[in-house]
Amino acid sequence: MKEPFQKALGIIRELKKHGYEAYFVGGAVRDFLLNRNIGDVDIATSALPHEVMQLFPKTIDIGSQHGTVVVIHEGIQYEVTTFRTDGDYEDHRRPESVTFVRSLYEDLKRRDFTMNAIAMDEEGKLIDPFGGQDAIANRIIRTVGDPKERFSEDALRMMRAIRFVSQLGFSLDEETKRAIIENAPLLAHISVERMTMEFEKLLEGPFASRALSLLVETRLFFYLPMLRDKESELQTATRYDWRLLDSRGQRWAFLCYILRIDAPAGFLRAWKLPNRVIKEVETVLRIVQTTHSDRDWTKERLFACGLEHAIAAETVRAVANGENVDERRKKLRELFMSLPIKTKSELAVRGHDIMKWFGKPGGPWVKEILALIERAVIHEEVENHKERIHEWLIHRNLIREENC
Ligand code: ATP
Ligand code: MG
Repeated sequence: MKEPFQKALGIIRELKKHGYEAYFVGGAVRDFLLNRNIGDVDIATSALPHEVMQLFPKTIDIGSQHGTVVVIHEGIQYEVTTFRTDGDYEDHRRPESVTFVRSLYEDLKRRDFTMNAIAMDEEGKLIDPFGGQDAIANRIIRTVGDPKERFSEDALRMMRAIRFVSQLGFSLDEETKRAIIENAPLLAHISVERMTMEFEKLLEGPFASRALSLLVETRLFFYLPMLRDKESELQTATRYDWRLLDSRGQRWAFLCYILRIDAPAGFLRAWKLPNRVIKEVETVLRIVQTTHSDRDWTKERLFACGLEHAIAAETVRAVANGENVDERRKKLRELFMSLPIKTKSELAVRGHDIMKWFGKPGGPWVKEILALIERAVIHEEVENHKERIHEWLIHRNLIREENC
């Protein structure tokens, strides 16, 4: 058994010792069978939430009304969820209520895709009533049960299906795909936050282009924030290598760029992204718009933008133009390394030095002089050293010697 499961075995054994059933379930079992990196290990059990809380000394109640308790075992947090079936689905969203059951089968049956509905016991034996291993072997994403019903219960599952295409490179089972096409409008019932979470995973996956293509083919894009009239641009977006974008900010900036979004802040707000990300994307796009070739990167410009934003902007531009991204990044890093100062705070003089040297009270002029000095330091006209800067100002006749 692989290490992440080994580490959690104590929880399963403790539950079993007290007469409950307990299994590993969900993404971890799927990823183990795929030989992928195993993420969070989740456990399903017949014990009720309060029973789980009684058994383990360190627990956090993160949603016991839905059956989930976090158990901290040897410093690691595990979600332990009581076997459950979902109550009635209202408005094609997650159910308000759940019913706890004592059968693993019922619990697996409420899960979204067959590959996610496999349980593993403490000996590594698999319980797979819906043919999940088969689906994994054939690289197919298929709902547990009738896809139309399952998507109508919870419309987010349609987005999940396509983000798994992006993460795993699997294909959609034909019936599952047809059901997405049929039920796409139900996505309108899902909260933006949940859609955004899936969409971001989709953009990050190694098969993002294929997944974007499916968003268009199934018409799901129509129900995503502000994408309704972007069909042809989305089609274009499928032609790029999204794997080259390596941060959240880069991906959103690239999306805005390729989709020709006029007002990125409004677009990103519609996706309910945090302000920090919106600001970052706006800055990066502003740099992209004002950089036309890599020759535009002067020391001064790089200093003003900062390395991270500069790299993001050049990555967006290079990916869009099919140019060599690594080369661009390398050049920028080298240029940045050659800068005598990397940030304003590294400048050896401050406003109060300037006021003292000039013998004048503060005002906007101080900033201007500091900017002059900054430029001179970046271009290595003067060393970033307080005395050298002072001499340089005297030499330039900006201050008279007796003033000091
Ligand atoms: P990831 O690697 O992204 O975490 P995951 O398969 O573990 O993928 P989670 O969102 O962590 O996905 O959900 C854990 C498990 O819960 C899934 O494997 C699936 O069995 C079940 N599940 C999650 N969301 C749904 C849903 N909307 N409908 C039905 N089952 C779901
Ligand atoms: Mg998970």
